[in-house]
Amino acid sequence: MNIDPSGSLGEILFTEEQIASRVRELASQITQDYQGKSLVVMSVLKGSVFFLTDITRHIDLPVELEFVKISTYKGTTQPQVQPRFEHGLPWVHGKNVLLVEDIVDTGETLHYAREALLQNGVASVRICVLLAKEGYQSRGGCVPDYIGFCIPNLFVVGYGLDYQERFRNLPCVAVLHQSGDGESK
Ligand code: 5GP
Repeated sequence: MNIDPSGSLGEILFTEEQIASRVRELASQITQDYQGKSLVVMSVLKGSVFFLTDITRHIDLPVELEFVKISTYKGTTQPQVQPRFEHGLPWVHGKNVLLVEDIVDTGETLHYAREALLQNGVASVRICVLLAKEGYQSRGGCVPDYIGFCIPNLFVVGYGLDYQERFRNLPCVAVLHQSGDGESK
Protein backbone atom coordinates (compact mmCIF):
# COMPACT_ATOMS: atom_id res chain seq x y z
CA MET A 1 0.00 0.00 0.00
CA ASN A 2 1.69 3.25 -1.12
CA ILE A 3 0.73 6.42 0.66
CA ASP A 4 1.30 9.81 -0.93
CA PRO A 5 4.40 11.14 0.89
CA SER A 6 2.52 14.35 1.54
CA GLY A 7 -0.01 12.24 3.45
CA SER A 8 -3.16 13.85 2.08
CA LEU A 9 -6.22 13.72 4.26
CA GLY A 10 -9.57 12.54 3.00
CA GLU A 11 -13.03 12.23 4.47
CA ILE A 12 -13.61 12.84 8.17
CA LEU A 13 -15.17 9.65 9.54
CA PHE A 14 -15.82 10.88 13.08
CA THR A 15 -15.80 14.42 14.41
CA GLU A 16 -14.46 15.45 17.80
CA GLU A 17 -18.05 15.66 19.11
CA GLN A 18 -19.01 12.21 17.82
CA ILE A 19 -15.91 10.70 19.39
CA ALA A 20 -16.53 12.44 22.73
CA SER A 21 -20.10 11.19 22.85
CA ARG A 22 -19.19 7.58 22.04
CA VAL A 23 -16.30 7.64 24.51
CA ARG A 24 -18.75 8.63 27.28
CA GLU A 25 -21.05 5.74 26.34
CA LEU A 26 -18.19 3.26 26.48
CA ALA A 27 -17.00 4.66 29.81
CA SER A 28 -20.46 4.30 31.25
CA GLN A 29 -20.67 0.65 30.12
CA ILE A 30 -17.23 -0.07 31.59
CA THR A 31 -18.22 1.60 34.87
CA GLN A 32 -21.24 -0.71 35.12
CA ASP A 33 -19.29 -3.83 34.17
CA TYR A 34 -16.50 -3.30 36.71
CA GLN A 35 -18.64 -2.20 39.70
CA GLY A 36 -17.01 -3.46 42.90
CA LYS A 37 -13.87 -4.69 41.14
CA SER A 38 -10.36 -3.35 40.93
CA LEU A 39 -9.37 -2.15 37.48
CA VAL A 40 -6.08 -1.48 35.72
CA VAL A 41 -6.54 0.43 32.47
CA MET A 42 -3.58 -0.39 30.25
CA SER A 43 -2.93 1.90 27.32
CA VAL A 44 -1.19 0.59 24.23
CA LEU A 45 1.08 3.48 23.16
CA LYS A 46 1.17 5.67 21.32
CA GLY A 47 -2.05 5.48 19.34
CA SER A 48 -4.45 5.09 22.27
CA VAL A 49 -3.16 8.00 24.31
CA PHE A 50 -6.00 10.49 23.68
CA PHE A 51 -8.60 7.72 23.87
CA LEU A 52 -7.12 6.58 27.19
CA THR A 53 -7.09 10.02 28.77
CA ASP A 54 -10.63 10.78 27.62
CA ILE A 55 -12.21 7.45 28.53
CA THR A 56 -10.61 7.09 31.96
CA ARG A 57 -11.86 10.51 33.00
CA HIS A 58 -15.40 9.21 32.44
CA ILE A 59 -14.97 5.85 34.14
CA ASP A 60 -16.52 6.40 37.55
CA LEU A 61 -14.33 3.92 39.46
CA PRO A 62 -10.89 4.06 41.05
CA VAL A 63 -8.55 2.93 38.26
CA GLU A 64 -4.84 2.34 38.00
CA LEU A 65 -3.11 3.31 34.76
CA GLU A 66 -0.37 1.41 33.00
CA PHE A 67 1.28 1.94 29.63
CA VAL A 68 2.80 -0.55 27.22
CA LYS A 69 4.36 -0.18 23.83
CA ILE A 70 3.95 -2.89 21.21
CA SER A 71 5.91 -2.73 17.96
CA THR A 72 3.97 -3.50 14.80
CA TYR A 73 3.68 -1.16 11.83
CA LYS A 74 7.05 0.61 12.04
CA GLY A 75 5.83 3.72 10.22
CA THR A 76 4.30 2.04 7.20
CA THR A 77 0.72 1.09 6.43
CA GLN A 78 1.28 -2.67 6.58
CA PRO A 79 2.40 -4.82 9.50
CA GLN A 80 6.16 -5.39 9.20
CA VAL A 81 7.06 -7.48 12.21
CA GLN A 82 5.56 -9.86 14.75
CA PRO A 83 4.15 -7.87 17.67
CA ARG A 84 6.38 -7.57 20.73
CA PHE A 85 6.46 -5.50 23.93
CA GLU A 86 9.24 -2.95 23.58
CA HIS A 87 9.77 -2.45 27.33
CA GLY A 88 8.23 -5.61 28.80
CA LEU A 89 5.01 -5.82 30.81
CA PRO A 90 4.18 -3.99 34.05
CA TRP A 91 3.45 -6.13 37.16
CA VAL A 92 -0.30 -6.76 36.97
CA HIS A 93 -0.47 -10.24 38.47
CA GLY A 94 -3.95 -10.96 39.92
CA LYS A 95 -5.49 -7.74 38.56
CA ASN A 96 -8.37 -7.04 36.20
CA VAL A 97 -6.84 -5.44 33.13
CA LEU A 98 -8.66 -3.43 30.52
CA LEU A 99 -6.40 -3.03 27.49
CA VAL A 100 -7.14 0.18 25.61
CA GLU A 101 -6.06 0.31 21.98
CA ASP A 102 -6.69 2.70 19.10
CA ILE A 103 -7.75 0.23 16.40
CA VAL A 104 -8.12 -3.44 15.62
CA ASP A 105 -7.26 -4.51 12.08
CA THR A 106 -5.99 -8.11 11.98
CA GLY A 107 -6.31 -8.36 15.78
CA GLU A 108 -2.80 -9.84 16.00
CA THR A 109 -1.41 -7.12 18.25
CA LEU A 110 -4.21 -7.49 20.77
CA HIS A 111 -4.13 -11.28 20.58
CA TYR A 112 -0.45 -11.16 21.44
CA ALA A 113 -1.02 -8.69 24.31
CA ARG A 114 -3.92 -10.66 25.77
CA GLU A 115 -2.01 -13.96 25.71
CA ALA A 116 1.02 -12.33 27.34
CA LEU A 117 -1.14 -10.86 30.11
CA LEU A 118 -2.86 -14.19 30.76
CA GLN A 119 0.52 -15.92 30.94
CA ASN A 120 1.53 -13.31 33.52
CA GLY A 121 -1.34 -14.34 35.79
CA VAL A 122 -3.82 -11.46 35.49
CA ALA A 123 -7.27 -12.09 36.99
CA SER A 124 -9.01 -11.04 33.76
CA VAL A 125 -8.34 -9.21 30.50
CA ARG A 126 -10.85 -7.27 28.47
CA ILE A 127 -10.14 -5.19 25.42
CA CYS A 128 -11.50 -1.79 24.47
CA VAL A 129 -10.78 -0.27 21.05
CA LEU A 130 -11.88 3.00 19.56
CA LEU A 131 -12.06 1.60 16.03
CA ALA A 132 -12.56 -1.84 14.51
CA LYS A 133 -11.88 -2.38 10.82
CA GLU A 134 -14.49 -4.17 8.76
CA GLY A 135 -13.70 -7.89 8.54
CA TYR A 136 -11.50 -7.98 11.66
CA GLN A 137 -13.51 -10.97 12.98
CA SER A 138 -12.52 -13.07 9.97
CA ARG A 139 -8.81 -12.29 10.26
CA GLY A 140 -8.40 -14.71 13.14
CA GLY A 141 -7.06 -12.26 15.73
CA CYS A 142 -8.58 -10.83 18.85
CA VAL A 143 -12.23 -9.81 19.20
CA PRO A 144 -12.56 -6.71 21.43
CA ASP A 145 -15.09 -6.53 24.27
CA TYR A 146 -15.79 -2.82 23.73
CA ILE A 147 -15.74 -1.09 20.33
CA GLY A 148 -16.21 2.61 19.70
CA PHE A 149 -16.92 2.52 15.98
CA CYS A 150 -16.69 0.00 13.13
CA ILE A 151 -15.02 1.45 10.03
CA PRO A 152 -14.42 0.38 6.43
CA ASN A 153 -11.12 -1.20 5.49
CA LEU A 154 -9.25 2.09 5.01
CA PHE A 155 -6.14 3.60 6.57
CA VAL A 156 -7.18 6.25 9.08
CA VAL A 157 -5.39 8.88 11.14
CA GLY A 158 -6.19 11.33 13.92
CA TYR A 159 -7.20 11.19 17.61
CA GLY A 160 -3.90 9.42 18.34
CA LEU A 161 -3.56 7.44 15.12
CA ASP A 162 -0.57 8.39 13.00
CA TYR A 163 1.02 7.97 9.66
CA GLN A 164 4.81 8.15 10.16
CA GLU A 165 4.18 10.00 13.46
CA ARG A 166 2.04 12.66 11.76
CA PHE A 167 -1.64 13.45 12.29
CA ARG A 168 -1.89 12.10 15.86
CA ASN A 169 -3.10 15.47 17.15
CA LEU A 170 -6.04 15.79 14.75
CA PRO A 171 -9.12 15.98 16.97
CA CYS A 172 -11.17 13.92 14.48
CA VAL A 173 -10.62 10.56 12.75
CA ALA A 174 -10.05 10.92 9.00
CA VAL A 175 -9.10 8.74 6.05
CA LEU A 176 -5.56 9.05 4.70
CA HIS A 177 -5.64 8.76 0.93
CA GLN A 178 -3.32 6.37 -0.82
CA SER A 179 -1.45 7.58 -3.88
CA GLY A 180 -3.10 6.44 -7.09
CA ASP A 181 -6.63 6.27 -5.75
CA GLY A 182 -7.48 9.50 -7.51
CA GLU A 183 -8.83 11.17 -4.39
CA SER A 184 -5.72 12.79 -2.93
CA LYS A 185 -6.13 16.45 -2.04
P1 5GP B 1 -3.55 -5.28 14.08
O1 5GP B 1 -2.54 -6.04 14.90
O2 5GP B 1 -4.95 -5.35 14.64
O3 5GP B 1 -3.50 -5.65 12.63
O4 5GP B 1 -3.07 -3.78 14.07
C1 5GP B 1 -3.15 -2.97 15.16
C2 5GP B 1 -2.20 -1.78 15.05
O5 5GP B 1 -1.93 -1.44 13.71
C3 5GP B 1 -2.85 -0.57 15.65
O6 5GP B 1 -2.52 -0.42 17.00
C4 5GP B 1 -2.26 0.56 14.84
O7 5GP B 1 -1.04 0.96 15.39
C5 5GP B 1 -1.98 -0.05 13.49
N1 5GP B 1 -3.06 0.23 12.52
C6 5GP B 1 -3.92 -0.65 11.98
N2 5GP B 1 -4.77 -0.02 11.13
C7 5GP B 1 -4.42 1.29 11.15
C8 5GP B 1 -4.94 2.45 10.49
O8 5GP B 1 -5.89 2.44 9.71
N3 5GP B 1 -4.33 3.63 10.79
C9 5GP B 1 -3.26 3.72 11.64
N4 5GP B 1 -2.75 4.93 11.84
N5 5GP B 1 -2.75 2.63 12.28
C10 5GP B 1 -3.33 1.44 12.03
